[in-house]
Amino acid sequence: MCVRRARRSRKHYRQTARPENLFFMRWSYRIARVAGIDVKIHITFLLLLAWFGAVYWRGGGAAGAIQGVGFTLLLFLCVLLHEFGHAFAARAYGIRTPDITLLPIGGVARLERMPDKPVQELIVAVAGPAVNVVIAFLLVFVLAAKISVENIADLDLAGGNLLTNLLAVNVMLVAFNAIPAFPMDGGRVLRALLAMKMNHLLATTIAARVGQVLAVGFALASFTDYGSPMLLLIALFVFSGAQQELAYARLRAGG
Ligand SMILES: [Zn+2]
Repeated sequence: MCVRRARRSRKHYRQTARPENLFFMRWSYRIARVAGIDVKIHITFLLLLAWFGAVYWRGGGAAGAIQGVGFTLLLFLCVLLHEFGHAFAARAYGIRTPDITLLPIGGVARLERMPDKPVQELIVAVAGPAVNVVIAFLLVFVLAAKISVENIADLDLAGGNLLTNLLAVNVMLVAFNAIPAFPMDGGRVLRALLAMKMNHLLATTIAARVGQVLAVGFALASFTDYGSPMLLLIALFVFSGAQQELAYARLRAGG
């Protein structure tokens, strides 16, 4: 979903720490190390899986629970690959990613720093959703092949529903990340484009305020019939993240 800077000094940490940082660190557990990057899951992510399992169990018994949890795991695999997209793009500019954490609201790749050049930030931001575009195209090809060789009525049995749902999820991930809600990916693209025309602090200020207005919109939308508690969490994440990025940009600008 988005990238974050890793803390580089205790002083900096004290100055810009926000509650979610402590939240990440205290309750995240490493489950794997891939290409030198720790893959962590947050305890709330496990609770989400358990909750989904219980909901699907009530709806369809053990088979339903396995299917539901399996789909959720595949969904988060797509989220994880998205975060690796950011991490590998950053690596191309010599920037390390110590870890990627999976949270119920998505993934967070913690980059050592953000690239200074706007065009590099733009590429790092776009690399995540680009992975979901590739996955979506692969799923379209697989689904097309299935339809051409099998009877369409057999598609459900052949896992057609699962693949169709995964396709929808990847399209949604791309669409959601295109919203310029800084510090989400679309917001980073906005900041990078602005920073090509003006100084870094002003670009960050505009992007952060746009992000916070959108976050208020997400929060309001979360209370409508189409909303969910997850959207409210994302709103809080975006709002505080934008404030934190702005504080960092001010620190960097020396004011
Ligand atoms: Zn992302």
